[in-house]
Amino acid sequence: MAKKDSKSVPYTSALIESRFWETTKLENMNKEQWEAICDGCARCCLHKFIDDENIEEGMAVSEIPAEDGDIMYTNIACYLLNDKSCACTSYDNRSELVPDCVTLTKENLNSIYFMPPSCSYRRMHEGKGLASWHPLLNKGKKTKMHTLGISVRNKVVSEQNVDINEFEDYIVTWPLCEIE
Ligand code: SF4
Ligand code: SF4
Repeated sequence: MAKKDSKSVPYTSALIESRFWETTKLENMNKEQWEAICDGCARCCLHKFIDDENIEEGMAVSEIPAEDGDIMYTNIACYLLNDKSCACTSYDNRSELVPDCVTLTKENLNSIYFMPPSCSYRRMHEGKGLASWHPLLNKGKKTKMHTLGISVRNKVVSEQNVDINEFEDYIVTWPLCEIE
């Protein structure tokens, strides 16, 4: 659920100054507030694998009982991701083009455990609040997030350039790391 592009990121001054994330639960946020919670890290655009024999083909993501220990991350990114800006190149059509792309909403928060621990929606849902590197706490800038290595910038390969059957060669642990 990476964002469209850096220019469209809705970290407006009014939102930043309101510090709405300190007083408003995810469930009560309006659309603008909800969109601004996304930090734009694009960790959610990496291919993940779940080692669980109980998962059946065709099962909806929300039906899969996954915990962090079951999920293996790779550094293989969705073909629609721009790995420099960490933005989705077809944000408005992403659900049609990539059916597995999980779009978090207030209604499917039970899918939040498919997001990495650092995901700002997940942090809010778990009561941790925003991390210090979140753009809302840094004048709307993503620089700190990139510098600390939270985003996927320069660390991924496109799924178009790898044999997905060899995913084990691409397993990484950095998407599970959190920095306060
Ligand atoms: S379509 Fe791909 S790049 Fe776009 S948000 Fe979904 S996973 Fe990320
Ligand atoms: S992991 Fe969460 S905060 Fe980061 S881009 Fe994806 S939805 Fe947004």
